[in-house]
Order: sequence, then C-alpha cells, then structure tokens
Amino acid sequence: MFCPKCGTENSNSAKFCKSCGERLFNNQNQIIPDESLSTISRWLKKWIFEIFLVWIPIAFIVGILLFNLMPKNLNLPGMWGSSVDLPGMWSASDGSIKTFSANGLCKNMMPVDIGGPQTYILSKKTDSDGRYILQISQPPNERTLSLKNKGGDKVEIFEDGELLWTMTKK
Ligand SMILES: [Zn+2]
Repeated sequence: MFCPKCGTENSNSAKFCKSCGERLFNNQNQIIPDESLSTISRWLKKWIFEIFLVWIPIAFIVGILLFNLMPKNLNLPGMWGSSVDLPGMWSASDGSIKTFSANGLCKNMMPVDIGGPQTYILSKKTDSDGRYILQISQPPNERTLSLKNKGGDKVEIFEDGELLWTMTKK
C-alpha cells in the first residue's frame, strides 16, 4: 500500500507511513463512520443540551413566577397549603354535623351561633404538636381551634389544648 501523502510504499499491515508518519488505512482498520447513528446522537445531544440548559431553567423561572403570583395569606381549603381535605360534611362527636365549603364558609363551628356566616381559615403548616390552626370567625366572635389529621377522613379538633371533638367525614 502506498502512502496517500508522500507516496512511499508501506506494508499492507502498516498503520502509519514509515517515511512521513501519516496514518494509513487498509480494509481491516478503516473506520467507516455510521452517518445515521451520528446524526441521531447529534440530535440527542442537541435535545439533551436544550432540555437541561434551556427548557428546565425556563420551567423553573415560570414556576417561581406562578408561585409568587399565588395569594400567600389566602389559605383556601383544598389548596396546596394543607394536606387535610376539609371541605365536605363531618359527623362530630358532639352529635352535630359540621359543614365546610370550599369557599371558606362553615357551619356549627361556634359555641353559640349568633347568626350570620361562619368562616374558617386552615393554616398551611402544622404546629409543633402536628396540628393545623383552624381559625373560625362569626363577627364579632372568633374561635381558635387546632386540628389534627388522624387519617382515614378522621380529624381531632382541639381548643386550648383540650380535645373538643373528633370528626369523621360523611
Ligand atoms: Zn508517507
């Protein structure tokens, strides 16, 4: 085989030209680039590059913007704030039915019902006892309760640290 660069004759098994050092290819060691494979891998690299350096940062920024647009102090029931699914009807151990609606209204949550709407706010986070703060309001009266999620649609309601009722969702 002849060197393509300087024309020196080399043995057929030679990998480099003995005269100029040029790399020699014969039928055994010739590298045939697989065009279709390299096209796919280039495409993959491009997409992986774009996903990690373009789309994930964009999604992250959009997520932060949306998060900041959400009302912080509006602990609407059922929102991402609390793991307790409060809206619905609950049978309480005092024999009454407590109702919580998704728009923040509730029923039978005041010791004395003076008339007018009762509203509730459930805290997003639990306190050190693992209880959510359940603030009830029927102006001008307020009642601060705490709620422990017992699982299986059962909660315990505390007032001043004392167990007031257990409630089971209907
Ligand atoms: Zn050569």
